[in-house]
Amino acid sequence: MSEWCQNKKCPEKKNQNQIRGSKGAKYYQSNKANGYIYWCSMGCREDWWTEHTNTCMQAVGFIDKQIIYLDDAWFVEYKYNWNSDTQNNDPLYYIRNKNRGVKQLITREQAQSPEDIERDYCHITIDDTQARELAITLGLAS
Ligand SMILES: [Zn+2]
Repeated sequence: MSEWCQNKKCPEKKNQNQIRGSKGAKYYQSNKANGYIYWCSMGCREDWWTEHTNTCMQAVGFIDKQIIYLDDAWFVEYKYNWNSDTQNNDPLYYIRNKNRGVKQLITREQAQSPEDIERDYCHITIDDTQARELAITLGLAS
């Protein structure tokens, strides 16, 4: 890991806040990686990606076409739900399968991991594999 933006052209932005050094020997430096994991900005991430796309793809490996059978395509949907009476945001969660026309209300405990409930990340739900397992648990799928 490095604390610096991984785009080698980052100093070429020539922003005022990138200037360091003493009089007569001033220079532009990279920004710190901040908010974009290894980069300082979306632009720097894009520059890096453009340069290293092939290297990344070779490292990760290519995959063939992926398919999901419609009957197996379960997911959990989050709906923001502002209750003006209680002045509260009571999130609603549904387990869904569009092919089967299923949209069933589930509890937050079913929709989210204990960690995400703890952090109060309302919008993060269990992934589609876990949604399918939940559908089986609920007797919606087998
Ligand atoms: Zn940068």
